[in-house]
Amino acid sequence: MHKVVIIGSGCAGLTAAIYTARADLKPVVLDGYEPGGQLALTTEVENFPGFPEGILGPEFIERARKQAQRFGADFRPGAVSHVDLSAPPFKITAGKETYECESLIVASGASARMLGLESERLLLGHGVSTCATCDGAFFRNREIVVVGGGDTAMEEATFLTKFAKKVTLIHRRSEFRASRIMLDRARKNEKIEFLTPYVIDRVENVANKSVDCVHLRHAETGATKVIPTEGVFVAIGHDPNTKVFKGELAMDDAGYLLTRDGAKTSVEGVFAAGDVQDHRYRQAVTAAGSGCMAALEAERFLASKEH
Ligand code: NDP
Repeated sequence: MHKVVIIGSGCAGLTAAIYTARADLKPVVLDGYEPGGQLALTTEVENFPGFPEGILGPEFIERARKQAQRFGADFRPGAVSHVDLSAPPFKITAGKETYECESLIVASGASARMLGLESERLLLGHGVSTCATCDGAFFRNREIVVVGGGDTAMEEATFLTKFAKKVTLIHRRSEFRASRIMLDRARKNEKIEFLTPYVIDRVENVANKSVDCVHLRHAETGATKVIPTEGVFVAIGHDPNTKVFKGELAMDDAGYLLTRDGAKTSVEGVFAAGDVQDHRYRQAVTAAGSGCMAALEAERFLASKEH
């Protein structure tokens, strides 16, 4: 029986691990499908306070992991396939192991939706990005494209005009899912050009490990064209990693866990932190903050049971 199990080892899970380990709760951290979370997939992190020269995402994660281990956090590989939160102790199955715990912190994150192209995968972090806030500043005076037709795409395209010389917004339909106000703002921006209805078939140049153009196909006529670009921002939404919690924890229509009073979920003793419960900010620093909140709540919950 463990006092606390943490699902996920991204920024939120690692912060929760540092706090609960320092509180002597001997947390078990289940690594998940993507150990290190989204930061492990980015390059430079320039906006986390305390790193004036910036730090590489994977290095940041490695350091936080060591910090948690220093205080006794126990990392176990494997993704969670089943949970039973109907009554304490909670039961978590990952790989061949089933863990029983008095409290649980869910920090399983969200995954950026991708177009599903091989070239996109190979160039992620090398000109292909899923986060304008994180990577926009690397594209000063460059020509870039943003893909998507929702609010995120409009917001990111508008934000990116602060840096880029030109932003081409590519969307697979000529109608937009984005709200009127965000769409109008993007349309009025002289640096943004709209290109619809087009889908991206391929990003080049994989051999050079950098982006120099995208191959497009007209969604109705099938006509193809190539446009030069130095960056591709994929902004087609995120999916929270909450499949295993369906029917166990309350979530909104998009599948994000609902939290109240900081980090409490619908089940007493189960807490949530990071992008799995936040589709609004999605930053490393906010994930770390909510990981701390979840850890402190878990600590208080366990202490209240002892008295
Ligand atoms: P959405 O699901 O709203 O939009 C996703 C967009 O990506 C759609 O236009 C969709 O096209 C397109 N898309 C999805 N899959 C593919 C694909 N495989 N290939 C090409 N295009 C694809 O996600 P968002 O992240 O934009 O927004 C999520 C939520 O967050 C929304 O409720 C939004 O309002 C909110 N939000 C609010 C903001 C604000 O108010 N400041 C800022 C950002 C988000 P199609 O339309 O054809 O399906």
